[in-house]
Amino acid sequence: MDAKIFVFVTHTDGKADDSALELVTAARSLFPGCTPSALVAGSGVGPVCQEVAASFGEVWKFDQAALAYPNAELLRPLLVKVLPAGATLLLAHNTFGLDLGPGLSVKLGVTYVPDVVGVDGLEGTTLRAVRQEYAGQVSSHVHCDIAKGAVITVRPGAFKPADAGAAAGQVVDRSEDATGLAARRTFVELIQAEAGDIDITREDVLVSVGRGIGDKENIPLVEELVEAMGAALSCSRPIVDAKWLDKSRQVGTSGKTVKPRVYLALGISGSFQHVGGIKGNPFLLAINKNPKAAIFQVATIGVVADLMELLPVLTEKILKSK
Ligand SMILES: Cc1cc2nc3c(=O)[nH]c(=O)nc-3n(C[C@H](O)[C@H](O)[C@H](O)COP(=O)(O)OP(=O)(O)OC[C@H]3O[C@@H](n4cnc5c(N)ncnc54)[C@H](O)[C@@H]3O)c2cc1C
Repeated sequence: MDAKIFVFVTHTDGKADDSALELVTAARSLFPGCTPSALVAGSGVGPVCQEVAASFGEVWKFDQAALAYPNAELLRPLLVKVLPAGATLLLAHNTFGLDLGPGLSVKLGVTYVPDVVGVDGLEGTTLRAVRQEYAGQVSSHVHCDIAKGAVITVRPGAFKPADAGAAAGQVVDRSEDATGLAARRTFVELIQAEAGDIDITREDVLVSVGRGIGDKENIPLVEELVEAMGAALSCSRPIVDAKWLDKSRQVGTSGKTVKPRVYLALGISGSFQHVGGIKGNPFLLAINKNPKAAIFQVATIGVVADLMELLPVLTEKILKSK
């Protein structure tokens, strides 16, 4: 079974994305004891292959100028050609994974399991996976037959990254298989988002505020806590939509991906679009007045309280303790 489990490794600026090692953990949760193989496509991807080799049984390298930018239209026929019958392929559930995954599963004639956040196990050929519905309010447990193989997209951040170095993968150059690929879609330009006044992706301690703060006039209460902690201020999307804070402060799938050591989620419900932007398994303290808020499922410590009452007390305690 080992040889048939693949992880599609995406990369940026010559380095594998964080999702690579998260997908290794997801693969091992699905198939305990397995050592998946990696697929790395791009132009000049030798260093990426070497980087991830220590975590995979084999690394298949597809090095072609045409693959310089991720293009699902090129990769779909390539993967149909190279994946063995019965293969299970894991991809990150991001815009690229969503572009590639569904059509690929159709072409391969295998099951498509999107946006997996957990695994209940495998019973025979039946995969029992956990997904979330209604912006994370409900967990659904789905059963799918993967006897013929599967394409599974895994939510970024849902699995802890595997420790690198557990395998000694061989890099197998399969670039010849990727010749003659043609697509109607072409890469035009990469537009980087503006950095803003502070770069929350580099901050160690983030205090993040959500709609639970109620009003723009209450933001200074949070800023006082931020200052007392020597932290940086970030937020959920509704705060940006309401123009209470700048877009550069937004954490989440359509905002920034952050990797702090400590993350305070204040009045944030814990939608997957928000939590998907929190990486690196920080110490996560959530304060929310709803004991059933989804954020408590991922929090290290959860406090059920009204922000308006707790915030001033918390700030004062921190200032006194200094
Ligand atoms: C395509 C797409 C992309 C998106 N991208 C992002 C993204 O990048 N980042 C992002 O954050 N969201 C994103 N969203 C929105 C996301 O789905 C949620 O709507 C959003 O994260 C909710 O923000 P919130 O938790 O602040 O607000 P809510 O979901 O409204 O939650 C507010 C929370 O505050 C609590 N609360 C209320 N009053 C108090 C109080 N006095 N004290 C304590 N707790 C209180 C409530 O119990 C509730 O849990 C995206 C959505 C879509 C469709």
